[in-house]
Amino acid sequence: MLLAGSPVRVYVEANCVQSYFHEVKTFGRHCLLVTGKNSARRSGALSEVCHSMLEQDIIYSEWDSITPNPTVEECSTAGDFARKNGADMILGIGGGSAMDAAKAIAVFAANPELDEASFYAKDWKREPLPIVLVGTTAGTGSEVTKVSVLTDSTGRKHSIKDDKLLPVIAFGDARYTESMPREVRLSTGLDTLMHCLESYFNKLATEASQKESIIGISMAAPLLMRFVKGESLNLEQQERLYEASLHGGLSIYTASTCFPHKLGYWLTETFGIPHGFACAEFMDRLLAHAREAVPESCHRLEEETGVPFEMLNDLCRRALPQHNHRVFPQEMEKILPRWENDSSLLNTVGVVTMRDVERFMSRYEWND
Ligand code: NAP
Ligand code: FE
Repeated sequence: MLLAGSPVRVYVEANCVQSYFHEVKTFGRHCLLVTGKNSARRSGALSEVCHSMLEQDIIYSEWDSITPNPTVEECSTAGDFARKNGADMILGIGGGSAMDAAKAIAVFAANPELDEASFYAKDWKREPLPIVLVGTTAGTGSEVTKVSVLTDSTGRKHSIKDDKLLPVIAFGDARYTESMPREVRLSTGLDTLMHCLESYFNKLATEASQKESIIGISMAAPLLMRFVKGESLNLEQQERLYEASLHGGLSIYTASTCFPHKLGYWLTETFGIPHGFACAEFMDRLLAHAREAVPESCHRLEEETGVPFEMLNDLCRRALPQHNHRVFPQEMEKILPRWENDSSLLNTVGVVTMRDVERFMSRYEWND
């Protein structure tokens, strides 16, 4: 089944790789497979994709070492590898990290002269190679977004957004998400909820994007609550979580994320907190801010999803791992200017001042 309302051709059903892979060969004959170290294999996706490649007479080579929060440098090196192997398309299998890396590798493979600055400046002389994605987490929605989030040479995460980063086709088979460890399930599930909430409380939101947010939250929140309380999820429930992640992706496609994602990047860079958890650390702040700035909109969201904010906060309390990461106030002072005039702060509903950001971040200050 094709996902309705998606700008990308995304199949969402069990065994969709086997059923529709013949469409891939219209985009290329020499493929570079891009994966992380383990999940593509462990999820079962890799062997099914390789089998379909053989069936369709597509030649492939493999790049299997993408790290979580991938760097521009590794994508550039993998781009060289793709070129040397004569790849004419890139297929990423994994969570957001491998999928986002695949998008960037498609750019580097076609543009050998590109350095980090010209990559971010989108000074791309040639079109990226066609991108095919196979998701293994129920979280980022990267399958349907034109975004790639990479870590630069100074260790900072930046998202780059361009229509050319949209995959030509994506496969969403929730069976591949069954192998996710509990921590990955929770972190990626919270990422989905953050996409829905941050795009909903966003000045760029439209009626259509808010509808996607509402669908995503009503599908994901009750299931994540059951999961965090210790229930295991059957395949049908995992399919719903996966679908919710795509609705989250569609919601940010138009409306984008707001301040929690930007502040969350810093937590990941500084303390290595997984992406979904890092963003969800600011969920309570976002909900409290929205309650003040747009009370009517909050009311509508709670009504239409059947999910009260208290339940979302409770979910975070139960799901977020405890940690004692702190920085000294002098360090915090140095960090704050990075968010000045940041578009994701400006795009948040109401007004988010630098004083607010200081308040949001104050829980990470070392106050002995
Ligand atoms: P991830 O970083 O892709 O994966 C996290 C860990 O889970 C990795 O160790 C991975 O293993 C493992 N894993 C993934 N799927 C698994 C499975 N089915 N079974 C067992 N283990 C599995 O996590 P993610 O949360 O999906 O992606 C996060 C990245 O996406 C961040 O860089 C974030 O900034 C970005 N992001 C992108 C968008 C977008 O629109 N493009 C949106 C939000 C976030 P392997 O290393 O072996 O693969
Ligand atoms: Fe995210």
